Order: sequence, then structure tokens, then C-alpha cells
Amino acid sequence: MRLFLILGILSLLIPSTAFSEQFYYIEDHKVIRNPVVCAFEFEDKELPIAEKQLLEETKNAVLEWTNKLTQFTGDEDSWKMEYKVFPIEKQHDFFAENDCDVTIYFVRDPLLVVELFSGYTEFYPFGLSEIVILYLQPIFSDEVLNSETLQNAEPIGLENSIDLYVGETIRHELGHALGLDHLPKEAISYDYKNGIPVGSSIMIDDLDGLPWNIVFEITEYDLRALVNLYGEEGFEDPFSLWFSYIIDYLILGGIVAVIIFLVHRRRKRSSRRNLM
Ligand SMILES: [Zn+2]
Repeated sequence: MRLFLILGILSLLIPSTAFSEQFYYIEDHKVIRNPVVCAFEFEDKELPIAEKQLLEETKNAVLEWTNKLTQFTGDEDSWKMEYKVFPIEKQHDFFAENDCDVTIYFVRDPLLVVELFSGYTEFYPFGLSEIVILYLQPIFSDEVLNSETLQNAEPIGLENSIDLYVGETIRHELGHALGLDHLPKEAISYDYKNGIPVGSSIMIDDLDGLPWNIVFEITEYDLRALVNLYGEEGFEDPFSLWFSYIIDYLILGGIVAVIIFLVHRRRKRSSRRNLM
């Protein structure tokens, strides 16, 4: 009886998790060191300004993530990200030195998977990822442009100019590369800053019903989400993840060994039967 009483009092003392903040992460993905972000050099003969402008925009996006994380945590070293330009002549050389954790490609043509933010990220083991940025300005119908709120509208074409929101796209995709996932509908909100609606997170991708002039930036919510994911150590905490990879490969290796053993034993048996 006394035990129940003590447990009851203890449960009252432990803060309820019902009011704690919710964060959303890409499953099994986080960088395992201070990431090197490589922007792939490219050439666009139809829009020659594209390369310079997009590489500059990417550099700024990497700097902004780093600076905001550094300011937010007061930790100068743990949240560093390095920006690099990966030259064209190295891109087709399979053996070229490549220490990129995050690679960013820029393309004119819409590909199969297009997010509303005009980009997407693919994830690979060891915290690696590849970002594709579709950088042309989408054209929307008059109906979409004249509505008060945004709707999930497909662009009706692309213009030969840089997407006005490409900076938001790059920051959003870098958020994925660091491990952040989209916010579910119920978690999406915005606030007015100097009369302009600003999204509560750079990781919002569902624009349905949001004001037409909403802008997105890396918010304190995004920074809290990353600090919650990586802890005080920041990006450089390889051991936990390396350990989980080693365990995965040991399990896989064990299964393969058992299969080889079973197949081998069956063959031996059948060859013995043949001899009889
Ligand atoms: Zn996204």
C-alpha cells in the first residue's frame, strides 16, 4: 500500500509528456560527423546566371544553418558544416576524391518526384544524402495566383528564370539531410512578423490553406528539433551510429552464414545419397 502511495506521488512529480514539444525525424538518418556539403558545379547554357546564383545561395544556406545552430546553442564547434564546390571535371571520375556527406545537384527539368518545394532528398547509409534542386520558376494558373490562400496547385509550366523560393528549397532540403522530416498537418502553424506570415518551420511542405504570401525560414523550432536529435554533442558523435551499423552488419552476416551452412549441408547429404 505504501509502495503505491510512493509511486503515485512520484508520477505526479515527473512532468507530463503530454505537453512536451513534438519533433519529426527521418527514420534511421542523421549525419555522423560535422557534414561536408558539396554543391555540384554545372552549366546551363539557356540560363548562364544559374550556376553562380545557385552555388552562392547554397553557400548562404549552409552558413545560415551553421550560424543559427551555433548562436542557438552557444557552441562554436559542434554544429559546424563545411561548404564545398565539387568541380565538373571531377564529377565523372569514379575514383575522384569525395568526402561529401551531402551532395547537391541542380537540374532544369522536372524529374519524377517533385515536392512542392521543388526539390527532394535521398538518404543513404552512414548519414549520407543526395539533394536534387529543380531551380526553374514554376508558372501557376491565374486561378491559383488570384486565390487568397494556397492550394495544392500543380504548376502549369516552367519559366526560364530562377525560382524565387529556391533559397527556401535549399534550406528545407538541407533540413532533411540533417535528419528532419515534414510536419504533419496538425503541427503546421505560422505567425506574423512585420505583417508578413512566416511558417513555424522550414520543414513545412503542405501549403494547403496557408496565406498566399507566406515565407519560410529556419526557425527556433527547427533548431530545437536538431538539438533534441543530436544532443549536446552536436553532429560529431559517431559512436552510437557506427555501433548500430556494426550490429546490423553482424546480424546480416550471421543470417548469410546460416544460409550457406544449411545449403552446404543439404548438398553434402544429397551427394551422399547419390553414392549409396
Ligand atoms: Zn521536403
